[in-house]
Amino acid sequence: MAHTCPVCGFGGLTSPAYDNAHCASFEICPSCGTEFGYHDASKSHAQLRRAWIAAGACWSSRAVAPPVDWNGIVQLKAAGFDSRVNEESVKTQLLLDLADTRHMSIHFCEPREVEETLPKLIEQNIAVMEIDGSSLASREDVFKAFAVALRMPKGWYGDEEYAGNVDAFLEYLDDVVEWVPAKGHVVLVRHSEQLWRAAARIAGELVEWWQFSVWGHHGTVHLVFVW
Ligand SMILES: [Zn+2]
Repeated sequence: MAHTCPVCGFGGLTSPAYDNAHCASFEICPSCGTEFGYHDASKSHAQLRRAWIAAGACWSSRAVAPPVDWNGIVQLKAAGFDSRVNEESVKTQLLLDLADTRHMSIHFCEPREVEETLPKLIEQNIAVMEIDGSSLASREDVFKAFAVALRMPKGWYGDEEYAGNVDAFLEYLDDVVEWVPAKGHVVLVRHSEQLWRAAARIAGELVEWWQFSVWGHHGTVHLVFVW
């Protein structure tokens, strides 16, 4: 019988992460890489899940191939993890993270959570910009959409109307504080479910760019995937 990973929702574990006597299986989840009894000895499953999501929710195992059309985010949603997390603490944490101008963050949210957090962000002088995730199918779409959403002034890219490559994109993203003055900056990617289903590679790239970009000349831009 297959068992579900309590961290990432993968349904193909050969034994339960913990048995009835609370003994760990020491099985390694091929999806998220959690070894039960080891990784979760010092961190909660929710903490491990957040770390896995922040790292792009990628398939972990090199020895075991992922199921066909596997998608980590879809798997999490199917396992119902978002609804199992305490809602108040999620909202409080969301607000704290998005108002933090020192560390960038990546979030996956329900529209309702975002709607309830927005007024408080605006009160704190955080600029919130929006992108339609269902319209992103290529890198070029991403660069164009961000140029519009971030109200990029004409001429910022020289003769170009949007960044032509990833380095330029990240460099100009770092400049956003110069033309949108605010204490902090948040980009909401609306209709993210369509984006992750139809263009998961692009969505994954966005997560990667955010992770590996070096913010800090001016400020941070938080990335929020709104389901
Ligand atoms: Zn897992």
